[in-house]
Amino acid sequence: MATILDGKEAAKDIRRTVAEGVAVLKNAAGIVPGLAVVIVGEDPASVIYTRSKARAAKKCGMLDILRKLPEETTEAELLAVVAALNDDDRVHGILVQLPLPDAIDEERIVAAILPSKDADGFHPVNVGLLSLGQPASVPCTPRGILSLLDRHEIDVTGMEAVVLGRSNIVGKPMAALLTARNATVTICHSRTKDLAFHTRRADLLVSAMGRPEMITGEMVREGVVAVDVGINRREDGTLTGDLHYESVAAKAMAITPVPGGVGPMTIATLLGNVLELAQRSGGEG
Ligand code: NDP
Repeated sequence: MATILDGKEAAKDIRRTVAEGVAVLKNAAGIVPGLAVVIVGEDPASVIYTRSKARAAKKCGMLDILRKLPEETTEAELLAVVAALNDDDRVHGILVQLPLPDAIDEERIVAAILPSKDADGFHPVNVGLLSLGQPASVPCTPRGILSLLDRHEIDVTGMEAVVLGRSNIVGKPMAALLTARNATVTICHSRTKDLAFHTRRADLLVSAMGRPEMITGEMVREGVVAVDVGINRREDGTLTGDLHYESVAAKAMAITPVPGGVGPMTIATLLGNVLELAQRSGGEG
């Protein structure tokens, strides 16, 4: 039977550890880690995500600043908000919720965040540091996945790791982190010719495509470690991942559920990132 990689439990532990770290930093250096979350517009999913990120920061003792801007916000106005947060000493981590309205150039906004306050690890400097294998602010979802694997003592060294998806926020940084951990990494995407050929070779399969239940048991090998990043909404409103859970779980050594797998790890890891940025701002870490 597959081990369930329970992200909810792991995330609780991380949040507890972060809350302890926040308390220590307050007492030792008088620094209260601050997370600023910026949202433009009213996209329902983004509203929920930003609210839960700000709430999670507050719950572990951080200062949470939520900046809600109207849909009509211009790029210049958003750049001014980011510049003010860059200059605000209370703020150690800045996160601009993506996607942004079409009229705003996302890359320009992400690049305007100080790399030393980049809570999401999306700034080109941090992307470069990660690819060089140097200390960097690391995107939360792939970093959270590694924490979950570590917690279950799954060592990826030498594994055939197949990552489905090549986005800047999940697929690419996941591949970089797995390479740094000495896995042999293959990245697949929508132009990959024979997806099943690759998925069947995987000792570790990380799926981040956003394609509901596309990966079935027939497409994986016996003993695979299956990590499902996908969050897809079924017609009845319930959530499902990219993996067909029952058939993949029947062959897997370990598997993440959706919901309750990778999702909770993302926010917990964000809090860990902000704590680290605050520690560095105080000369620690
Ligand atoms: P993107 O849409 O940016 O990227 C999807 C990737 O999947 C692309 O690289 C795309 O290829 C590839 N892809 C799409 N269809 C196929 C296919 N049929 N075969 C092979 N590859 C395919 O998505 P994100 O990376 O932002 O997110 C992926 C999923 O993960 C979504 O469901 C999202 O909701 C979820 N997510 C979950 C998080 C969590 O915390 N659990 C956090 C972030 C995202 P190409 O590049 O060629 O277009």
